[in-house]
Amino acid sequence: MKINEIFAAIEGETSLTGFPMLFVRFTGCPLRCSYCDTVYAYEEGKETTIPELIEIIEKNELKIVHLTGGEPLAQKELPELMTRILEKNRQIVIETGGSMDIAPFIRDKVRIMLDIKTPGSEMSHRNLLSNIPLMREKTDEFKFTLCHRKDYDWAVNFISKHNLREKGCVINFSPVTPGLSPATLAEWILKDRLAVRLNCQIHRFIWPDRDRGV
Ligand code: SF4
Repeated sequence: MKINEIFAAIEGETSLTGFPMLFVRFTGCPLRCSYCDTVYAYEEGKETTIPELIEIIEKNELKIVHLTGGEPLAQKELPELMTRILEKNRQIVIETGGSMDIAPFIRDKVRIMLDIKTPGSEMSHRNLLSNIPLMREKTDEFKFTLCHRKDYDWAVNFISKHNLREKGCVINFSPVTPGLSPATLAEWILKDRLAVRLNCQIHRFIWPDRDRGV
């Protein structure tokens, strides 16, 4: 498997914000979002075997392993790696761009964080809608990254059109950084009495000078 970076950090997004985790960032992504902040993970990386990864995970001792990218679901060996990680009594968080099938990765002790790409990302045509019915209440979460008011209105309409609320999953609204101010997004959410979670990336506040390893 080609790995871009492995690092211990504080989870900065979703309702798991604040928990320490071991992050494994895979190389490669089938998408090209306009705001992507991990462009360096499109190609750069080092081939690493599953036993080597398991050794790193065991030595690290953190109980939650966060698989991210790039696009972790694009890794052919991911199901096997997940099995090996779970055997080591770890929990897994998977962060996915939402263009690939999540079905093979739904398991106990695995939480899926599914992006719904908005028009501002220039990738909304790649949202795989068949993933939506697979999302599990209280375990998995949706995330919309919003570039502007048009994205916000689009996301509100998407939630209604696809009955996301009936899923019982947390719905995260993230302001793109830089671009949309958290205060502006907060005002829109409050004005509309919208039951979504304002998702600010706290790792950017903790480590403002780091552009990798967060
Ligand atoms: S899905 Fe994530 S990693 Fe892939 S291009 Fe979009 S923001 Fe970047």
